[in-house]
Parts: sequence; C-alpha cells; structure tokens
Amino acid sequence: MSSEADDCNSNTERLHFLLVPLMAQGHMIPMIDLARLLVARGALVTFVTTPVNLARIQPIVDRAAAAALPIRFAELPFPATDVGLPDGCENCDLIPSVDLYLPFMKALSLLREPLEAYLCVPDPSWWPKPSCIISDNTQYWTADFARALEIPRLIFHGPSCFYLLCYHLIDRNRAELEAEMEAASGKPVLLPGLPQPIQIRKHEVVPVWRSNPAWFEFIEVIRMAGESADGVLINSFKELEPLYFERYHEVTGKAIWPVGPLSLYKEEFDAKATRGRASSIDQKLLFQWLDKQEDGSVVFISFGSIARNTKAQLVELGDGLEASGRPFVWAVKEASDRRVSGLDEWIAEFEEKVEGRGIVIRGWAPQTVILEHRAVGGFVTHCGWNSTLEAVAAGVVMATWPHFADQFLNEQLVVNVLKIGVAVGVEEPTAVAVEDNKEEVVKVRREQVEKALEALMAGGEEGEERRVRVRELREKARMAMEEGGSSWEGLKGVINYVKQAEKEKEKDKSKKPAVQ
Ligand code: UDP
Repeated sequence: MSSEADDCNSNTERLHFLLVPLMAQGHMIPMIDLARLLVARGALVTFVTTPVNLARIQPIVDRAAAAALPIRFAELPFPATDVGLPDGCENCDLIPSVDLYLPFMKALSLLREPLEAYLCVPDPSWWPKPSCIISDNTQYWTADFARALEIPRLIFHGPSCFYLLCYHLIDRNRAELEAEMEAASGKPVLLPGLPQPIQIRKHEVVPVWRSNPAWFEFIEVIRMAGESADGVLINSFKELEPLYFERYHEVTGKAIWPVGPLSLYKEEFDAKATRGRASSIDQKLLFQWLDKQEDGSVVFISFGSIARNTKAQLVELGDGLEASGRPFVWAVKEASDRRVSGLDEWIAEFEEKVEGRGIVIRGWAPQTVILEHRAVGGFVTHCGWNSTLEAVAAGVVMATWPHFADQFLNEQLVVNVLKIGVAVGVEEPTAVAVEDNKEEVVKVRREQVEKALEALMAGGEEGEERRVRVRELREKARMAMEEGGSSWEGLKGVINYVKQAEKEKEKDKSKKPAVQ
C-alpha cells in the first residue's frame, strides 16, 4: 500500500459513516459497494436496511461478517401497513401501483425514530457516534436528522451527472420550455445551458407528477433537502462525462465527488454474482453455456429491477430475438412475480423454439458477471444508470430501450453523446408499476428489436467504432477506480471533507466555555 493510502487509513480510523439508501435495488446495490469501499479505506459504516431488504442481501451480510468488516446492517422495522402499503412492501420493486409511491416514501421517513433508537444502543460499545450521513437524494428526512446530530450530510445520487444537469436545467426553465414546446406543437426542443446540443421531449418537461399537488410538494421537499446538503457523491467517473461534471458543479456550487463505477469494486465472482439478491438461475449451467459461445456474440437483455412489461410486449421482444438468429441471455423478471397471466406457458413454448440458442432467466440475473463474460457483446437495456454504467465498465455496447424516469436522458448520453449504443426507438414512457400497465401496451415492435440487434451486434464500420469507443471507456473506468484514479481521489475527497468537519467540530467544542 502506498504512503498516501496509509495516510488515508490512519486518518479515517474513527470516521463513522451512516448510509441511508432508498430501498430500491438500483440504489441499495451501489450504496453497499460504497460501504465496502469506505471500510476498505479504514472507516466504519452503519448501513440502514429493513427486514425484507436485509433478507435479500443476506449473502453480502454474511460475507462482511466472515471477513470481520466493520459494517453494521441496522435492520429497522418498516411501517408498511401504518401508511396503507401491503405488508412486506419494503422495496420499490414491490410497490404494486404508482399511487402507493408516496405512502412508501412516507414510510421511509418514519425510519428516523427507530434509527435514533438504534444509534443509542451501545452494541458494540466502541462504535463512535456517526461522523456523517450519506443518504440517497430522496431520503429528505435525513437533512433534519443530520442537523440534529450536528454532522455533515452528503447526498448519494443514483443517476448520471448528465441527467442531473439536464434535470436541474429543466427544473429551472420549465415554464419557458413548456411554452416553447407548445409553439413547436409538442415536438422536442433544445435544452439550453448544456455543453452539447440535446433535444428534450414533452414527457421530460411536463412530468406526470406535475398534476398531483402531493407529488409536487414531495419533489419540492427533496429539492430543498438537496440544496442544504454539504456535497454530492455520484456513481460515475469524470472521464465518462467531464463537461457535465464541470457544468453541474458550476450550476449547483456544491462539492461534487465522482466515486464510480462502484460495480468495479474488487471482489470475487461469487460475491458479484449475488449482488443485490440471489440469482434465479443455476449459475453453473449459465456459465457453462456462455463459455461455449464465441467472443462478443451473445446479447444480454435485462430491464433492471422495477420496469415491468406486458405479456404482449414480452412476446414482441421474444419474436424479435428469435428472428435475429443471435445467441442471447434474457432476464424476464415478470416471470418471477407471477402477476402476468399466461407468461409461464408462453416462456415454455419460446424456450423450445430457441433451444440451444438462448437462455431465459425467470427473475433475477447475476447481471454484472454476465456483462463481464467475454462472450457477451451487446446489452439491450432500459438505461437505468447502474445498468448503463455496468455495461460501460464491462466494455459492452448497448441497444437502448428506456421505460421511464432518468432512462430517456441516459439513452441520449449513450447514443448521442458517448456514441456507444443504438436506440431501439421508444417514444413514450411505460407505466412504472405493474398494475398500471395495461395488457395491450406494446411500445416496441419485433421488427424494431431485430433491426436494433443487427445494428448493435454487426452495424458495419459504425458498429465497430461503437465497440472501440466502449472498450476505451472500459479502460478509463478501471483506471478511475484504481489507486490515484479520479474516482479513487473522489472518495478520498469525501473522507477528507468529513475528517475536516470533525476537526472543526472539535475546535468549536474546545472554544466553548465549560458549563459551571
Ligand atoms: N440487476 C441485477 N439483476 C437483475 C436486474 C437488475 O443484478 O436481474 C441489478 C443491475 O446490475 C443494477 C441494478 O440491479 O445494478 C438495477 O439498477 P438500474 O439503475 O440499472 O435500474 P433500476 O432497477 O433502478 O431501474
């Protein structure tokens, strides 16, 4: 270890980070990686979780315990039924209808009291008080909690810096953009203030929550909590989106620390394969099959943890895959919750048709290790930020199929800015929750799937250029996470900031006259 790292370790001996994620796979997974990185730099971590979520990450908890890592998993009771949620609805991917998102966020804010009680229990007694809270952007209640504890609060942002900057600019110029869009009869308009020309669409300017006062209020509370934060951690790396890091820092005036790609946190295959939760497939069979495929020949299809498609849409996708003639691994998570009727039967028939050429995973896929396999050459993705970044980190080109939220802007980053992907051609968002998704909805036709796969996996000179670019980015991503790399330095910046805050607090205390 270099003297710099030694220095880092000794400096952080007593720093204690309290990590409060949003209970959603795409937010918990990178924060667990962050926890392990902080511990590797000598810090202590308390990671807030709830019973259902703890059960999902049990393999990680067990590994941490076996390695005697100083990470505590604070299992707090989740008051689902108190706010009208079904019992056990403790993760975004379990929310059955979009109307229940706000009660879900309310339930999260009720974690403060049990968390306070947890922190008071001296078990084990040598744990110091938290030095800093790192909370998901949406966990607004931690702003007040950090003030009460008199410690800094840093925000962990799920999406790309590109998205954050676009969102910031849309938010500040919404009325003008809406008027401009109206004048353009709803056609995409240019978003001013960006380093590169980016067109935005109506659903990005006029989000559905606008018409709901309760949502409006909630978004406002998050915005205010964001403004009061001491700094921002982003799961990205400078070399990927340098102009956007620079500009985002300029417009927010905040310290912005890149700390990713967090998926590159070094660990063994088995640990990576259970990232998030146990996989739904016999891994031995899956990797035996992948080992037999040619380099870069396999397409991996997965739409993250929340997006759910209708059976009609899945059939279109399956038909497109079959027609493409390419080998594939397809994670169909809709098959695991059994809410889509007739799906099991259809998958069984489909598997017969494509036997030997493709693998269907009914549920959770060991995504990062699949993407890192040498046989995988293309990824059909919903453009969730983690999935996008994991593809970059693995050097795999993408066919972009956004469903909602930040995914449409992430698509623009991939296709138009980084030029490492092709758009499947989705125009409008899909309903977020499964019960709001009507049976007949089909956003992408089989011919579009076939065409996108041809462009992605072959694509002539342009296709080759995309592959070269993504491989260059993979190398830069790795270097960013190596000691002395930009994201390694980013985390060091976080640690030093908190250390400095502790020192100043100590100084202030010593200046105060002793109470007689
Ligand atoms: N993931 C996985 N297996 C799956 C589905 C998702 O390992 O079958 C992981 C994926 O690697 C990523 C996260 O879950 O780390 C999903 O986050 P992302 O931001 O891509 O999408 P979201 O689920 O938030 O829509």
